[in-house]
Amino acid sequence: MAKVKRVPFIAGNWKMNLDHLQSIAFVQKLAWTLKDANHDFGVDGAEVAVFPPFTDLRSVQTLVAADKLDVRFGGQDLSEHDSGAYTGEISGAFLSSLDCRYVLVGHSERRTMHGETDEQLARKVAAALKHGLVPVLCVGETADDLEAHGPSAVPVAQLKAGLAGLAGLAGLSGTPELVVAYEPVWAIGSGKAATPEQAEQVAARLRETLAEVLGDDVAAATRILYGGSVKSSNIASLMREPNIDGALVGGASLDVAEFASISRFSKHVGT
Ligand code: PEP
Repeated sequence: MAKVKRVPFIAGNWKMNLDHLQSIAFVQKLAWTLKDANHDFGVDGAEVAVFPPFTDLRSVQTLVAADKLDVRFGGQDLSEHDSGAYTGEISGAFLSSLDCRYVLVGHSERRTMHGETDEQLARKVAAALKHGLVPVLCVGETADDLEAHGPSAVPVAQLKAGLAGLAGLAGLSGTPELVVAYEPVWAIGSGKAATPEQAEQVAARLRETLAEVLGDDVAAATRILYGGSVKSSNIASLMREPNIDGALVGGASLDVAEFASISRFSKHVGT
């Protein structure tokens, strides 16, 4: 596989927290903290993104554009449809028109609480790409899966299923950009992250799977994140692993100082 520098990516999933006013204060403070000369950001810094509730996105967009802040943002979900009678759903076209660069697809809370299937998620991945968004496809095994099938089987199967719609995607030009987030469900919100070795074992299998399905170039360029109880105290050891390019952060992304520290401990990585 070709050697490619992958810019570290630290993504904060706010879930259903922080309203639009709080989002403005948060993003302003985050951008200032990231810029602070006392911190080790700069050439080796990470790309940092927040995933606020939909109702915050317009406020975040306005702030980021007006103050030219170095913070990206995205949606926590999107509809598989472009428009129409789908009450409560949000089109990828709407996210794109709010300058979202990313969108989460298949977070474990969507899979379990909203019954999202692999087939539906494949359509959501395709919809994201169609609308110029980079899908952050979340995969991961439950504690029961881990016991029954070992660590990689379920995440690999979910990744393959999520990519199933790409081959026939009309109008997709060039190499699809996507991000894969490996999030063992047993580690999410538990305070007990996977060990770097556990996370690397699965991330390496996910990269092999990307190579099988989309080819070596896409596999080498695609960022694979680890998610599940990431904190400033464990990010450095996770990111030392060759196949882990960043983190999807839940709880710790709601604390500006902690989230900025997590970003600070990341680095440029390459294969
Ligand atoms: C998540 O829900 O995506 C997540 C990783 O949460 P936490 O960081 O709180 O474990």
